[in-house]
Amino acid sequence: MKRIIIDPGHGGSDSGATYKGFFEKTYNLSIALLVKATLESRYEVDIILTRTADQTVSLKQRTDFANARNADFYLSIHNNAAGGRGFESFIYNRTVPAETVRIQNVIHDTIASTILNKYKIPNRGKKRANFHVLRETKMNALLLEVLFVDNDTDLNLLNNSIFIKDVSTAIAEGTAKALNLPKKTPPPSGTLYKVIAGSFTERENAEERAAFLATKGFDSFITSLVIKGTTYFRVQVGAFSEKSNAEDLVAKLKTIGIESFIYTEGTVEPPPPEPEPDKGYPIAGNSELAAAHMNNYARSVNPEAPLLAAYYLVHSKRYGIRGDIAFAQALHETNFFRFTGDVTPEQNNYAGIGATGGGAKGASFDTPSDGVLAHIQHLYAYSSKDPIPAGEKLVDPRFSLVQRGSATTWQALNGKWAVPGTTYGEMILTLYKKMVQSSITDMETAIEKLNKVLKDIII
Ligand SMILES: [Zn+2]
Repeated sequence: MKRIIIDPGHGGSDSGATYKGFFEKTYNLSIALLVKATLESRYEVDIILTRTADQTVSLKQRTDFANARNADFYLSIHNNAAGGRGFESFIYNRTVPAETVRIQNVIHDTIASTILNKYKIPNRGKKRANFHVLRETKMNALLLEVLFVDNDTDLNLLNNSIFIKDVSTAIAEGTAKALNLPKKTPPPSGTLYKVIAGSFTERENAEERAAFLATKGFDSFITSLVIKGTTYFRVQVGAFSEKSNAEDLVAKLKTIGIESFIYTEGTVEPPPPEPEPDKGYPIAGNSELAAAHMNNYARSVNPEAPLLAAYYLVHSKRYGIRGDIAFAQALHETNFFRFTGDVTPEQNNYAGIGATGGGAKGASFDTPSDGVLAHIQHLYAYSSKDPIPAGEKLVDPRFSLVQRGSATTWQALNGKWAVPGTTYGEMILTLYKKMVQSSITDMETAIEKLNKVLKDIII
């Protein structure tokens, strides 16, 4: 594995260039830390810094340190001052290996074609100088003068965390290219634990987060993904094959006030669980009661009730729905066709379709038959995912608003047909059972009557 010494210029008592209270040493260290983080996260490489904090380190200490560590490359990061603006790079001004020149070319050109272009920064060229760190190092050495601390335009960039991240990435990529560093290969199979430090619908917000992370020494990048038609920009800080490493990073991010989460990739998604079947009594099925008994029951409460039972039985049969229970629902919705709610009798609306409360009158239908048909179609919308039967005209104006098949039992209409309606289906079924009981009584009376007839006729 190749070893690179990154040397953040100055530090400690040596501030480097200063201007308006800003110190060169600060920018040098920020960039160096980010170049290190970027290279380590993307490439197989060993990076050592000559300083990792605001420490005083002499020039001799730096080069002795590098020479003792058999490094392949020495990269010194500085910022400029005193007359001018823009970027320049330096190699030693005496005899150097061709390799050193080539490295300067690749890194300088990478920075020029990305950052200098993007930010319209003057390119001051590839230069040579007799600097200590270039002269005294035994390996290929390059010194970058990123920008001018004492130029207001350049200083604005240096104080822009997005620029710092961008320039560090460019330096890292240029270095990787120049040294032909092997890319880190993701684990070939198995699970990858990605640490996501923020998910945003606005890209700028994601970039701001990434820039903030950069100032704290975390290399990140932004991925986008679409969930239910909305694009999310995710800030990914790391990806690990070991979950504990991902958890460590989450904990580290927390210490700088960033809430992150682990997104597991590479696992086979289990198929979505089958939805639980609705509990309760099905809406689909046959009617059991006779029209006469149903009407009779309605009129036992409201003698003025219209005779609608036959419509319920006939229409519901074509849709495979229990029309007698639908009739019980109509009794509940209209208070036995007394229409004591928002719907008036002339609307022929027996199911409160579109009567959503607060005085909304809801839908109107031309005839009682159409009103009943709309009711049956509305139940069909809830209880089935099939299209309406061939040859049927759709009269329910709210059919398409129903999530098809979302309630296959009367109890499942709770909170759907009636909101909140926690006992809506139960009330309908209770009414229906009363109607069944009333039918039995009707029939018992009829049987008694017929038995009496049998008894009375003496042949
Ligand atoms: Zn300097």
